[in-house]
Amino acid sequence: MKEPQVISFNEVDQKELEFDVVVIGSGPGGGLSALRACERGLKVAVFEMGPGLKTKDFVMDEATAYQNLYQEAAGRTTLGGEVTILQGRTLGGGSAINWTSSFETPDLTLRTWQEKYSLTHLNRESLKGHFEKVKELIGVATWEIPPNANNELLAQGLKKLGVSYASIPRNVRGCQNLGYCGFGCPTGAKQSSFRTSLARGSSLGASIYCDAFVKKLLIKKDKVYALEVCPRTAVLGEAPNNKVKAKTFICAAGAIGTPGLLLRSLVPDPHNSLGKRTFLHPTTICGATFKEEVAPFYGAPQTIYSDAFIPRDLNERRPGYKLEVPPIHPLLLATSLPLKGKQHRELMKRLAYTQAIIALQRDGFHQESPGGQVLVKKGQVFLDYQLTPYMQEGFKRSLLTMGEVQFAAGAEEVFPVHRHGEKVKSWQAFKNQISNLSMAPLDLKVVSAHVMGGCAMGKEPKESVTDIKGRYHHLENLYIRDGSLFPTSLGTNPMLSILALVDHLEV
Ligand SMILES: Cc1cc2nc3c(=O)[nH]c(=O)nc-3n(C[C@H](O)[C@H](O)[C@H](O)COP(=O)(O)OP(=O)(O)OC[C@H]3O[C@@H](n4cnc5c(N)ncnc54)[C@H](O)[C@@H]3O)c2cc1C
Ligand code: SF4
Repeated sequence: MKEPQVISFNEVDQKELEFDVVVIGSGPGGGLSALRACERGLKVAVFEMGPGLKTKDFVMDEATAYQNLYQEAAGRTTLGGEVTILQGRTLGGGSAINWTSSFETPDLTLRTWQEKYSLTHLNRESLKGHFEKVKELIGVATWEIPPNANNELLAQGLKKLGVSYASIPRNVRGCQNLGYCGFGCPTGAKQSSFRTSLARGSSLGASIYCDAFVKKLLIKKDKVYALEVCPRTAVLGEAPNNKVKAKTFICAAGAIGTPGLLLRSLVPDPHNSLGKRTFLHPTTICGATFKEEVAPFYGAPQTIYSDAFIPRDLNERRPGYKLEVPPIHPLLLATSLPLKGKQHRELMKRLAYTQAIIALQRDGFHQESPGGQVLVKKGQVFLDYQLTPYMQEGFKRSLLTMGEVQFAAGAEEVFPVHRHGEKVKSWQAFKNQISNLSMAPLDLKVVSAHVMGGCAMGKEPKESVTDIKGRYHHLENLYIRDGSLFPTSLGTNPMLSILALVDHLEV
């Protein structure tokens, strides 16, 4: 499929534009909503604040990728710096830079939404056809190539301990197993939204504007009548805004981006619920060095996972976590290690022999993990997110699990990614270390690449932000179509769930 035609907003000189449907954000949610509207014969435009970079522009360079393709050059954090947040800010949003792991929504998550949030229309049966359709669209398939050593060591450790694991389906076509997914796939194998839904949307006539920052929704009575848009590079300058009128407005600027835009636009919010309950899958990291080379920068980044530590029961008190591995590239490792001087240098020297596991903790399933709140201050968007003692207890358990797996896989040394973390050579020494380490914010390194919630769907306006079709409760023609719709986190990587939900809502 031919990649979409893109217009840079820097080149647009009309002061007023008009469409049937405008979509804000070009990630999985925005791309698919735009395609469905085009298929209905509507005049559609997409506004994306990031640059219009495509396959030929990806140069396999880590620093360039973070600068060009990530929100805040990959330096976004929660308000107090407790969690580092990775999000896409480019044509295709997160789908352009993600690691291609493609999971369906877990059963327990759907059951929680049915029983606690009255979302009875979202169940395995009602979503089945939508998952099939979106898997076909983005090429989800079993990964047949053997895992790289980083993933293989996770499998080996789990196998030794008798813990279940499986391989991860990926959304690629003709993948060459390079490992550069996080910097934009240079071969076009990754089926991001600009290679799939936006490409088809463009061929059906959608106008796709990049470098186009949507500042505000303009509201009259109970309807949105226009967007105020400016070139991204002029956000802080005095550049005049362009007006974009439409009949229907679809917000798909991602969790944080969507509630941020709505708050900045002063949309009616009588129950003060907008931007609350934003979730992150707060993620802990455990590193290990091996005698043999691991080369964790090569090969498909995520191909093995374990859900053995995710609760099976609706009333389980513990948060639970999914185990996966991250690709390890020099800049990401250097900036993730909260260490100084010699210790930092020594670990960096051993990069090629380093393996890491991540534990993605579920948030939002228990009253002691209520998620964070999106705030807007002087037009800038922030996420205030507290790592509660309940979550900290889960972090400690997750580090113990990961360390045990790494020693079982034959690690020479294991280290928690923590400000006071030390490399140790035995499982007993690791257990002693973890029991004495504080899990307090800023001591333990916590990261997230999965932002969800903040505009939860629901039946009651008092308890939700949109209705069960994803329409904003208090404005007639405003719809939300991204990961911010989820009432809890998912407990798994979100892309495929976002696509299936959007497909379901568009019917
Ligand atoms: C490094 C990394 C690895 C990941 N790996 C995986 C994985 O393997 N599997 C998986 O399922 N998920 C993965 N994810 C997460 C997944 O990519 C996201 O959950 C998904 O992309 C979210 O989709 P979305 O439609 O909600 O929003 P996004 O993809 O975040 O898209 C929103 C878009 O809106 C734009 N935008 C925001 N505000 C404005 C504005 N005011 N005006 C105009 N445009 C705006 C943004 O620039 C962005 O491009 C990963 C994410 C990252 C960062
Ligand atoms: S492993 Fe390489 S070829 Fe495959 S999707 Fe990732 S970047 Fe593209």
